[in-house]
Amino acid sequence: MSRYRGSVCRQCRRENMKLFLKGDRCYSDKCSFDRRGYPPGQHGQRRAKFSDYGIQLREKQKVRRIYGISEKQFRIIFTKADRQKGITGTNLLGMLERRLDNVVFRLGFTSSRTQGRHFVRHNHFIVNGKKVNIPSYITKAGDVIELKEKSRNVAAITESLETIVRRGIPQWLELDKDGFKGAVKSLPAREDVTLPIQEQLIVELYSK
Ligand code: SF4
Repeated sequence: MSRYRGSVCRQCRRENMKLFLKGDRCYSDKCSFDRRGYPPGQHGQRRAKFSDYGIQLREKQKVRRIYGISEKQFRIIFTKADRQKGITGTNLLGMLERRLDNVVFRLGFTSSRTQGRHFVRHNHFIVNGKKVNIPSYITKAGDVIELKEKSRNVAAITESLETIVRRGIPQWLELDKDGFKGAVKSLPAREDVTLPIQEQLIVELYSK
């Protein structure tokens, strides 16, 4: 999968909002967006005017960057969301939220989705008792995600679990901190995605 290798904080500045891509740093005074909250580049401080297409494109890029997935994968998820019953935009966000890399992040095992993807890939988690090392695995209601025993002393994970109180756990998930496991209680509802996202703009973009 192609991977973005540039400055991570630049993405927040481009999207004009904090995307929380760097774990603890995002909550500290080192946050680049807090210090330079304007788009990157030579003309970044000029007022930008966007066409309708530009607004839709930025919204799609923003969501893609929040969840850290490639254009190709994003398209695939959108197509699946479009085939499901219900509202396409809501289905899309639901599927993004249910990705395993996002779930381990939302449960507090990792400090960012990027780290979540990394730890899932490196076999730190089991789902329903079985090894799953695919970050794009879509969890279902009732799934139990457990940290492997040998991974329970990994400093990055224990430190992240310590900060979960500040971040909070969405109501569709349940964490058993002492048991190093979490469960998907139900499928996420639209209101569980608290970042300001206008998913309808993405639907409009891909419907052209
Ligand atoms: Fe974005 Fe976090 Fe970097 Fe701040 S520190 S600009 S929120 S990635």
